[in-house]
Amino acid sequence: MTGPGPPPASAINDPDLLRDFQHVWHPCTPLSDLENYPLLNIERADGVYLYDKNGGRYLDVIASWWVNLLGHNHPRLKAALTAQLEKMAHVMFAGITHEPAIELAERLTALTPDNLTRVFFSDNGSTSVEIALKISLQYWQQTGRPEKKRFVYLKDGYHGETLGALSVCGLPLFREKFDPVLMDNLEVAGPDCLRCPFGLKRDSCNAECFQPMQETLAQHTEAIAAVIVEPLVQGAGGMKMYPPVYLKKLEAACRELKIHTIYDEVAVGFYRTGSRFVCAGHGLSPTFLCLSKGITSGTLPLAATLTEEAVYDAFKGEFQQFNWFVHSHSYSANPLACAVANETLTLLEEPGFSEVLAQKAETMRRAGAVLEELPWCAEYRQTGMIGALELVRDRENLTPFPLERRVGFRIYQAALKRELFLRPLGNVMYFMPPYAVTDEEIKWIIEQAAAAVEDVLGKE
Ligand SMILES: *Cc1c(COP(=O)(O)O)cnc(C)c1O
Repeated sequence: MTGPGPPPASAINDPDLLRDFQHVWHPCTPLSDLENYPLLNIERADGVYLYDKNGGRYLDVIASWWVNLLGHNHPRLKAALTAQLEKMAHVMFAGITHEPAIELAERLTALTPDNLTRVFFSDNGSTSVEIALKISLQYWQQTGRPEKKRFVYLKDGYHGETLGALSVCGLPLFREKFDPVLMDNLEVAGPDCLRCPFGLKRDSCNAECFQPMQETLAQHTEAIAAVIVEPLVQGAGGMKMYPPVYLKKLEAACRELKIHTIYDEVAVGFYRTGSRFVCAGHGLSPTFLCLSKGITSGTLPLAATLTEEAVYDAFKGEFQQFNWFVHSHSYSANPLACAVANETLTLLEEPGFSEVLAQKAETMRRAGAVLEELPWCAEYRQTGMIGALELVRDRENLTPFPLERRVGFRIYQAALKRELFLRPLGNVMYFMPPYAVTDEEIKWIIEQAAAAVEDVLGKE
């Protein structure tokens, strides 16, 4: 059969959706959904709102896949972008440097832990992870430890979807189909605070769940290049939150055993959890720090992998030694993206910004009381500007809804009718709005989300 087949019902009366249906392939979308659930055709966005072609308005509850920090259509970000555009849109980044990249590298290294002194630029979160993995591997080769070539990652961990990143992915949905070609890495059970096997609470425990990590690190020390984690919040795994003491234990163990640590702060960096970066906020010094998503406040793709001078030093040498890092992306350190990133940092670092954000985080925490009254609420958890409601069929036993029932997806559809754009992760509904959201809007989001849950589950 050739051609796209008959158009879905949702597209029959909409010429734009019909054109989309003929040639576009959307990310992470079951194709059968196109039959039943029309895509939103968004024409413009401003502040926390998205506006579609039919005059509809939606609050962007998940910050456009967690990238938008300061609100859409931000005048100062647009000004920074156009000012740079007047000078230069893009140049390659080998043999050339430019002011926006130099400034951004200076600022990122100044704002992150002292050990991080070097910045390698790329253009998305997955590549920032690939780069950390590759530098770690090459570092061990060049320092006489070529046997160190396995990575340790957490169950439910997510670090992007290219093949290297999938090799450290602890979510079967994303990796299963590609398993046969992935690297032979080590998966470890990580924190699972809602269903803690020790029966402890995340705000008072001592990360007893570190034990399996401790054992794996001890058992495979000589083979391990690095451990990769999403600090404090496992995002795509369902906004699973865990306490910083786990990271403290990890850092101590890795330091002792001479294993690199890779902090993937692609989702949690830039104040999402309350601290500018999780590592800096908790006195932690990873070997690598991966940043992307919020770095341009959702304006342009950009990523950075930071590391320390001792790592950089292992790549010094004459040409003939071939120990430099042979890795490049066409759009590395794109000047437009770097200029917007610099302005994003200026806005985030303005006096009073983090205090106002802390108040909004407090509203995020308090608003959860409404959600805890829902009979399907297993837990409302919150860290900084991330709130997450995990829904269960049976509250006593925390019995999950079967995935096939698509509870989260149906709530997403119900929430659209209430002018909220949120896309739950399985049975976890989460709230990760742009920081421009007001306290009143936070309360409204939570009320509407609770009502959307009732719309769907109240009828069953
Ligand atoms: C989104 C995400 C990535 C991947 O970033 P992309 O830009 O989508 O490639 C990697 N790690 C974490 C923790 C993420 O949340």
